[in-house]
Amino acid sequence: MNLRKAINDNCKDCLYDKLEPGTWLQQVTLCVVKSCALHNVRPKTTHPIPESVLSYYGVKLGEYQDLVAAYEG
Ligand code: SF4
Repeated sequence: MNLRKAINDNCKDCLYDKLEPGTWLQQVTLCVVKSCALHNVRPKTTHPIPESVLSYYGVKLGEYQDLVAAYEG
C-alpha cells in the first residue's frame, strides 16, 4: 500500500459516517481537526461540495471558498 492510499484510508476510517450527508471525500475535506498531524495532507475533493452539505456541517460558502483557495495554493 502506498502512502497516499494509507492516508486516504486512515482519514476515511477516522471521519466518514455513511449516515451523514456527503461522500467520504467531502466529509474529510471538511475535517476541522487542525491539530491532527494529517490535516494538511488529508485527501480533498477537487469537485465543488453542494451547499446542502456545507450548510449541514455549518460551513459557510465563503469559509469553504477560503479552504479551497488555501489548498490550491
Ligand atoms: S485529518 Fe481529519 S479525517 Fe484525517 S485523520 Fe486527521 S482528524 Fe481524521
